[in-house]
Amino acid sequence: MTAVHVPGAPAISAGQLVSTSPATGAEAGRVPVTDPPDVTAAVDRARAAGQWWAGLGFTGRRERLLRWRSLLAQRIEQLAQLVHDEGGKPVADAIVEITTAIEHIDWAARNAGRVLGPRRVRSRLILAEFAGHLEYQPYGVIGVIGPWNYPVFTPVGSAAYALAAGNAVVFKPSEYTPTVGQWLVDSFAEVTPEHPVFSAVHGLGDVGAALCRSGVDKVAFTGSTATARKVMAACAESLTPVLIEAGGKDAMIVDSDADLDAAAEACVWGALTNAGQTCIGIERVYAVEPVYDAFVAKVVERAGRLTVGAEGADIGPITMPSQVDVIRRHIDDALARGGRAVLGGADAVQPPYVHPTVLVDVPEDSSAIREETFGPTVTVTRVRDADEAVHRANALSYGLGGSVFGRARAVAIARRLRSGMASVNSALTFAGMSTLPFGGVGDSGFGRIHGEDGLREFSRPKAITRRRARSLLPSMTFERTPADVARLVKAVKLMYGRR
Ligand code: NDP
Repeated sequence: MTAVHVPGAPAISAGQLVSTSPATGAEAGRVPVTDPPDVTAAVDRARAAGQWWAGLGFTGRRERLLRWRSLLAQRIEQLAQLVHDEGGKPVADAIVEITTAIEHIDWAARNAGRVLGPRRVRSRLILAEFAGHLEYQPYGVIGVIGPWNYPVFTPVGSAAYALAAGNAVVFKPSEYTPTVGQWLVDSFAEVTPEHPVFSAVHGLGDVGAALCRSGVDKVAFTGSTATARKVMAACAESLTPVLIEAGGKDAMIVDSDADLDAAAEACVWGALTNAGQTCIGIERVYAVEPVYDAFVAKVVERAGRLTVGAEGADIGPITMPSQVDVIRRHIDDALARGGRAVLGGADAVQPPYVHPTVLVDVPEDSSAIREETFGPTVTVTRVRDADEAVHRANALSYGLGGSVFGRARAVAIARRLRSGMASVNSALTFAGMSTLPFGGVGDSGFGRIHGEDGLREFSRPKAITRRRARSLLPSMTFERTPADVARLVKAVKLMYGRR
């Protein structure tokens, strides 16, 4: 396997993938690289393991998953430290991330049987002599491909639901966070030592590509929109279904009756947590004219208080060295086109750190407004009213999440956002609510993780009809008579022919 090595990025050395701290460059961990041909062997092993796992039933799987959840909760500080060491994220943010993942494991484990288990389905007058049965059966093996920015939350969001549904999972973590991925797999193996129900394959993008072609029954991809296209193309070769959780450019709308302090607090957190490397991060704000100036002042005041650094700071380093160039380009482009930095700006980029940057008067066609920045920057744009805010928020091909601050119209505005999710008077909160589906529209992807939809995403509906009586109106048989057909016509007209 060959790879072009970017300074500061993970490297492959003697068959091992070596990840480094983005803050210090020190080695954070190493895992053995999986040769692409061996990916198929891992999937074959997972397939056999999956049959055993499916055989445990909802109750058996629930018990294992709850034990895994407990293990994560008991070792939350250890895992948070690893997330910090490998990805640079502040430990407190890692704790919040892992807490959310634990919540999802718990909910998926407890609810899979209720949501997916066999049930009777009512029949109607047509075919009333048949009973309907429905259940959701596992696919078999799910290939999970994950990003580095939330190395626990994102894979668990797919894996916990896929496992609860009865699938085995083969996971390809990001090359930037392989040790965290291996930690998740190893901890699961502690509660399920019998078979490799949840396993990992490691390496660069070619290993992810091999996973798409390995014979998995479905791929759950979380990552950039550009890679999502490659994943879909590879999966198209074998008609392997895909779930795509891709990038975003989420907007916040601040209406005239918003609590401005709460809005500013949520904006600063939603935009700058994890140094802005958040798929559902707030990257654009549209604030209505009457509250615009006061809102901007409050955002600048709060964001200006944040500390930046390796240890104990609010904002850590940029994990992927190449992302610094993207962030710099967006800031430069905004400023060159007449935008102003009311906090930070061009000087804010000090690799591996980027200091909080608030941009105003940025034209709508600039890259800072149109492209995913994935850095601790946010644009705030003055708009006439909520209608204009919605129009601008919806103008991009992305549609992941969003946030609305206001009172009277806030929920109505949230419903009009072209996005899979929105939070009213908060930011990002939908991600932590295990009962709600998570996913986007347009360039942000399709399919859903989390909640009941998330469980069904990893299952095939199995529909069964069972005869319970003789057919009074036989139709699906060559034994039917012309009189039967005539009665059918009469019945159809009676039942459905009226206006
Ligand atoms: P990438 O798209 O670069 O990588 C995602 C994963 O895909 C990595 O494991 C990567 O491996 C792998 N990969 C790379 N090339 C291929 C290929 N040809 N076939 C299959 N897999 C491949 O994304 P990032 O890791 O940089 O993550 C950041 C992106 O993820 C952002 O756009 C962000 O918005 C998005 N994201 C979306 C979320 C959502 O839920 N919608 C949540 C979190 C992030 P390797 O790392 O080894 O290259």
